[in-house]
Amino acid sequence: MRDFFRGVRKRIGKLDAEQLREQYRLIADEADFLDALFTANSEGIIVLGEHGEAVKSNPAARALLGMEPADALAQLEIPLGVASKREMSITYPDERTLEMRTLPMKAGTLVYLRDITAEKARTEEELRVGATKAVRDLAAGVAHEIANPLNAISLNLQLLERERPDDESVKVCRQQISRLDSILRGFLQALRPSRPNLMPGSVADPLKNCLATLRQQFVERSISVTLDIPAALPPVAIDKMQFEQVYFNLLKNAMEAVGEGGRIDIGVASDDNDAVVSIRDNGAGIPPEQVAHLFEPYRTTKEKGTGLGLMISARIVRDHGGTIAAASKLGEGTRFTIRIPRIERRIRALK
Ligand code: ADP
Ligand code: MG
Repeated sequence: MRDFFRGVRKRIGKLDAEQLREQYRLIADEADFLDALFTANSEGIIVLGEHGEAVKSNPAARALLGMEPADALAQLEIPLGVASKREMSITYPDERTLEMRTLPMKAGTLVYLRDITAEKARTEEELRVGATKAVRDLAAGVAHEIANPLNAISLNLQLLERERPDDESVKVCRQQISRLDSILRGFLQALRPSRPNLMPGSVADPLKNCLATLRQQFVERSISVTLDIPAALPPVAIDKMQFEQVYFNLLKNAMEAVGEGGRIDIGVASDDNDAVVSIRDNGAGIPPEQVAHLFEPYRTTKEKGTGLGLMISARIVRDHGGTIAAASKLGEGTRFTIRIPRIERRIRALK
């Protein structure tokens, strides 16, 4: 652009009328182009003259300030003829944070305005996350410290129990210690999730393993379990150990919900996008207002519950790029549905 003008200026005395008209057309086109850029720019731009008067401004500047820039100049306190940068908050048309940059020009000042509300919110969120992490590390540290003496107590109680097999107090102590131990374990797992070790596999394999572990408990409670697995399932990227735990948490909840003689139906399927596992029970169901909070930690309705099972399960499913959802009807039962993206979808999704 600059070269262009320099060239024209040098030759202008030698140009005839037709050539001048042609140069004029080129300049007019260029001006239209620059004007379009100026108008479409999402950054607000205000051009100030030598004495700080508004010469020109673009629509973004008007939108950001919520008024004609000329009318806002007094409040903006724009430093003239210098390069500067500062933040300011405006309350109209709504509460936002703007960044204002100025650049000196030959005869005046160029002012840039940018909405940095979202950026600032992100920074504050990052700080908050950092603080939360410090608290979590502290809590995890304390939990570890508690786990060690607990272990020692448990070992000694085992010895005592062997010496006095009929002592009820010793038995109660042992039970309570083992309960504390499982609370601590859940707590630590919730605080310090381990990254899944993803391998291609089927959502059904860990399910079968988990059912094998629980079979005896189902039999003892006369709970009937049906399992519907299609012959062919698309592979998913899965950490089988972690998924065994997800299934264990869900099936244990279902078992506790249905009680003696209940029924649990498990279905595995797939669609174009996902492998889908659904676990349905005919238990008491969950009140609607409670469904929204199911996956939050420490929400339990059980006397001996920890309220961590669903939260940990949801996190594992999320770490697999999947979703978990609950649907429930009081008096009829509850259905949990897990969806894990098929490998080929996952790779496409990550591209
Ligand atoms: P916990 O089992 O230790 O209470 P969970 O996170 O596993 O913790 O479950 C949280 C709560 O969700 C349970 O206390 C229960 O009220 C409810 N819940 C979970 N699964 C079911 C289900 N299948 N039927 C009815 N309620 C359920
Ligand atoms: Mg549970």
